[in-house]
Amino acid sequence: MQSPARFASALLSSLIALLLLFSLPAASPAQAYVGRPKLIVIVVIDQFRGDYVERYRTELKGRGFRLFTDQGAWFTDCYYDYANTKTAPGHATIGTGAYTDGHGIEANEWWDASRSNDHKVTAVEDERYRLVGLPSTSSPAGAPAFVIGASPRNLRATTLGDELRLATQGRSRVYGVSLKDRAAILPAGQAANGAFWTDDASGQFITSTYYMNRLPQWAQAFNAGGRIAEAAREAHVEDLSHFHDLVEPTPAANRYELDFARALIDGEQLGRGPVTDLVTVSLSANDLIGHAKGPDSEEEHQMILGLDRDLDGFFSWLDKTIGLQNVWIALSADHGVAASPAQAAKLGIDAATPDLPALRARLNLLLNARFSPQEAKNYILVSGDLPYLTLDRRVFEADRIDEKTAEDAAAELLPQALAQLAPPASPALPSDHRLPPTPTAAGVYTRLEMTRGPLPPSELGRLLAHSSFDHGNWYVMLMLGPYQMQDLHSLAGTTHFSPWSYDRHVPLAFYGAPFLPGEYHERVAPVDLAATLASLAGINQPSAAVGRVLTEALKTGHPSAQP
Ligand SMILES: [Zn+2]
Repeated sequence: MQSPARFASALLSSLIALLLLFSLPAASPAQAYVGRPKLIVIVVIDQFRGDYVERYRTELKGRGFRLFTDQGAWFTDCYYDYANTKTAPGHATIGTGAYTDGHGIEANEWWDASRSNDHKVTAVEDERYRLVGLPSTSSPAGAPAFVIGASPRNLRATTLGDELRLATQGRSRVYGVSLKDRAAILPAGQAANGAFWTDDASGQFITSTYYMNRLPQWAQAFNAGGRIAEAAREAHVEDLSHFHDLVEPTPAANRYELDFARALIDGEQLGRGPVTDLVTVSLSANDLIGHAKGPDSEEEHQMILGLDRDLDGFFSWLDKTIGLQNVWIALSADHGVAASPAQAAKLGIDAATPDLPALRARLNLLLNARFSPQEAKNYILVSGDLPYLTLDRRVFEADRIDEKTAEDAAAELLPQALAQLAPPASPALPSDHRLPPTPTAAGVYTRLEMTRGPLPPSELGRLLAHSSFDHGNWYVMLMLGPYQMQDLHSLAGTTHFSPWSYDRHVPLAFYGAPFLPGEYHERVAPVDLAATLASLAGINQPSAAVGRVLTEALKTGHPSAQP
């Protein structure tokens, strides 16, 4: 029989052995600082609604989308938590984990009173830099060496890539790729080593002196290597002078872009260094076909199946070169899209298409009647797209009208202006026993309300607050009714810009060692992407991040415990 003292001692040794067993240092902790994972790839599909994969699930093959649905964490209900569902803000949101009130990007282009009152600026244009790699055939005559460059100058928050660069004192390398400048630049961030996008005419990949003074050798070789002609052949296009218009709205463009991403990863030897590298790849082709043909078209269907094959090819290549066990991949989209108004009207939905220039003109008449009945003044700046209408504050200020008076008047008169529009020629007549579609203002909110309140104490109020920004202009935000949008002059066409769920619904998915495979139906948001990856990589979340770490999709325990 053991003495109590010997029994206690044996128990203690067993406990110590057990403790040691569970506290063994992990051989390779999952931290960006030590190159675990070796590479993070963020894939953003431009205009890809959250229901598409479910719609075509039985036709998906290989390790494209099914890499996420079968082996990754797949979130079925991811919704943007703001009301301005456009391309530039969506990409900025994915990179920064913040909304427009955090990252400062509200649209693809806007009036910026601090830069010019004569023309709008795009989200990324920057006259302090010039484009790099533009072929002479695409440069304007007389100014071949100087074409306005681009930069992330308007981003007011850091991205996941920026934080990765900061955490590793610049040793991590971060790149962005897209066919569109804004979609290459914004998700990658301010500290990115490079961003590449295509020249509209030639299809060649270009960049800006913000990043570098000449294209890297591998990019020059890619541009010179006959890949553009191959993409044109795949797209059955003979004319090589309008790449953007002719080749980019086809499945061949996704393949072309993913091949460039491979050339980048190879050329810069990403995922082979001592710390984690990051690439954002924004696939633009879907958006072009989606706008032109609508989400329910056969063209969109074929685009999705083509993309599935191309993602399979890209992920399989990553597996061969870096090994998928060394890579984390995240997938999302910058916005969804509405069913085409024609399609919605056919089913009896009030899917009107008001004429935006006519609406602006009508609102201007009503403002004139109120503030300057003797003169014709232009109170509204001609702005591109809804949901914002920008007021010309100079005209109001010349009449000593303050911002609150001006914006309140515009908000009050807009529904009236909309009601006064001649009924538009309906793109598709509803059935004969239903009334024709009528445009309706579901809400109008002013800049002052959006930035200072009061806003409705509801989910809508939160969406509006997240959509506010300040570029020195006065504005109001117009919410049209669901499936209502400005006249697109096309029966099949559609767009995205609204707070309605179809514009906010996107996929969110992760693949990689720390993720618990499964299908998740929690309501999540694209801001959670940066928050989750930052947490797993052991680095700070981006400066304005508001996302949640998606712990339900993580294997339990420290990620270092994962193989
Ligand atoms: Zn987009």
